[in-house]
Amino acid sequence: MNYYSLNQEAEKSTFKNAVIKGIAPDKGLYFPENITALPKSFYDNIDNLSYSEIAFEAIKQFISPDIPEDTLKTIVEETLSFDFPIVKLNDNISTLELFHGPTMAFKDVGARFMARCLGYFNQNNNKEVTVLVATSGDTGGAVANGFLGVKGVNVVILYPSGKVSDIQEKQLTTLGENIKALEVNGTFDDCQAMVKTAFLDETLTCNMQLTSANSINVARWLPQLFYFMFAYKQLHNKHKHMVFSVPSGNFGNICAGMMAQQLGLPIKHFVASNNANNVVTRYLISQLYEPKPSVQTISNAMDVGAPSNFIRIQEIYKNSFDKLKENLSSYSFSDEQTKEAMLEIFNNYNYVADPHGAVGYLGCKAYLKEHPEAHCVFLETAHPTKFLDIVEEVIKEEQTLPKQIQSVIGKEKESISISTYEDLKSFLLE
Ligand SMILES: *Cc1c(COP(=O)(O)O)cnc(C)c1O
Repeated sequence: MNYYSLNQEAEKSTFKNAVIKGIAPDKGLYFPENITALPKSFYDNIDNLSYSEIAFEAIKQFISPDIPEDTLKTIVEETLSFDFPIVKLNDNISTLELFHGPTMAFKDVGARFMARCLGYFNQNNNKEVTVLVATSGDTGGAVANGFLGVKGVNVVILYPSGKVSDIQEKQLTTLGENIKALEVNGTFDDCQAMVKTAFLDETLTCNMQLTSANSINVARWLPQLFYFMFAYKQLHNKHKHMVFSVPSGNFGNICAGMMAQQLGLPIKHFVASNNANNVVTRYLISQLYEPKPSVQTISNAMDVGAPSNFIRIQEIYKNSFDKLKENLSSYSFSDEQTKEAMLEIFNNYNYVADPHGAVGYLGCKAYLKEHPEAHCVFLETAHPTKFLDIVEEVIKEEQTLPKQIQSVIGKEKESISISTYEDLKSFLLE
């Protein structure tokens, strides 16, 4: 598969090059040149396929011929070594739990897949790749865990000092080996600005191969389309009119769902569930796309003022506002509403949702008001104990920590403090 840049100026790229570069030379996002729907027989037979078989069939056209099929099968199997269960709340609402991976956030799948692709491309290469990533919390842990021990890849994670949860900090500072954590005296925006400056700094890019590991990278973005197929496999015999509510920040996850729809998966509609950072909710009303600086909320992984994948969504629907509206609704909810939803889910269904999942639940309820015949699946994107303070405050019940979380708590944090871009640069050049 070839990829083109959505800025239209760069040359076409192979999958391999798109993964290694992250972003096109004209600063555009890469997008696959064509998308071929899977045959009807694939969907008719989905009950008989394992998750790895489904994922392999769905992803192979985007990877071929850069990774041989046998290797790709192994990559997919290793990536998906945990479960993706559906929990039914009532006749109209289910949740798809995406938090059973090693760092208990849905980003594990994309990070593990991308790490294995880069590892494969680096097998016979003695040039090292440096993955540089800024995190507001979950990305750092998933990337650190996914890339741990991958040959020829160094990972440098920038995180804002004092602004990630204790558990998130442990997940990204305790691994060692090829993973380095830089604790930035500043905000997440400062971390992201430093990373952007580094990608444009020729003294760095002449000396080293830098790449990104956020959902801009096609190898992190595309595997997320698996989730929607896994939900379909579990629900299609019971519910025909399936709708997905996706708690959205950078819009990578929901955009991957739309790719699954392009592959022929019968999804009727998507709901982008937002917190107060609601540029897309407003766009669908006004047709004006007006990014704003992000505001802090209790669903902090969605505190994004200018979602980088929205341009891919527009490309999928051929830049037609009408087509987009046919396929996408969006609602925005306050922290107060989110907490009320967490309590409602707990009281009515005896289920503990994290703040991001609770925003997704509210999106389902809002959509179902207008479309009572639908079955709405909201994605539970993180385990509730990753947001322990807020969860225990709201539902007033102590939570037991799962083994993935317990295992990092006693470990010693190792980080390097930096304050300026010059600090980052000298660290990278060392
Ligand atoms: C990253 C993240 C999101 C947002 O996903 P996008 O693909 O950026 O829209 C939602 N919930 C959690 C817990 C996350 O970590």
